[in-house]
Amino acid sequence: MDIAQVGVIGAGQMGNGIAHVMALSGYDVVLNDVNQDAIDQALARISKNMERQVRSEKITEAEKQAALSRIIATTDIAQAGDVDLVIEAATENEPVKHAIFESLAPHIRDTTILTSNTSSISITRLASRTDRPERFLGFHFMNPVPVMQLVELIRGIATDQATYDSCLTVVERLGKTAASAQDFPAFIVNRVLIPMINEAVYTLYEGVGSVQAIDQSMRLGANHPMGPLELADFIGLDTCLAIMNVLHDGLADTKYRPCPLLVKYVEAGWLGRKSKRGFYDYRGETPVPTR
Ligand code: NAD
Repeated sequence: MDIAQVGVIGAGQMGNGIAHVMALSGYDVVLNDVNQDAIDQALARISKNMERQVRSEKITEAEKQAALSRIIATTDIAQAGDVDLVIEAATENEPVKHAIFESLAPHIRDTTILTSNTSSISITRLASRTDRPERFLGFHFMNPVPVMQLVELIRGIATDQATYDSCLTVVERLGKTAASAQDFPAFIVNRVLIPMINEAVYTLYEGVGSVQAIDQSMRLGANHPMGPLELADFIGLDTCLAIMNVLHDGLADTKYRPCPLLVKYVEAGWLGRKSKRGFYDYRGETPVPTR
């Protein structure tokens, strides 16, 4: 199926990035949020991020203007349903996502493909509550969307090949690369990445190394661009813990038990960069390790 119009539900961190890359690739975008402030902030951010791309000569001023003119922003969900492809990127909360697909139902076309950008909720379960589990897919972008090359396409148990192929064509038109994943907890990237971060926290907890020694070891010894604790602070320690809990609950294997020290940081509200403190303290000029 040829996709021309895309509805993006949720104009937060991910939704604005998705609208940005879709519009630049020539798709007409309807960006929806329940919160007008979120919409206003998303439009301002998209414009600012495109401006940066103009300055670094990645796009021209004319391409920026054309892309911005392709985005309609609205709090009306009906408009976001009357499209070829819906990408739901609202808050990571299962009842919220079910309610969104329910309220979209009267407005979508027979052919509309429904997708979710969820990081952890079962695609099969989300799909089962809609009238079209065969035309439902996980469309998992990485953060920040305009920068990261990968998109995981996650098949629910009922997803048909035509739906997968249509979405693969979209990923290719965005100039990105798709990884095909089956619908099991945390999919591919987070299944591998977050347990590694959790293991780094155990390494700290057991006193094997300091924050600095662990991060430096992985940067210089494994050639990772960022150390695992630095990266955890960037992702958000609450998000890391939530994903470990999804793996632990969903796979029922003790190898996924969240490190007690990770739990303690989250209990303290030390969630990483967004709260200015995590494995590093970001309140000064340069980040200082907190252990
Ligand atoms: P966010 O909190 O920045 O944005 C969520 C937005 O959804 C908010 O603006 C909120 O107002 C809006 N929203 C809530 N209920 C809504 C509704 N009923 N209808 C329309 N909009 C609604 O969250 P985010 O980080 O952008 O995450 C969005 C989704 O993307 C989540 O499912 C998350 O798991 C997934 N994801 C996040 C990341 C990441 O690194 N942040 C990476 C990949 C995937």
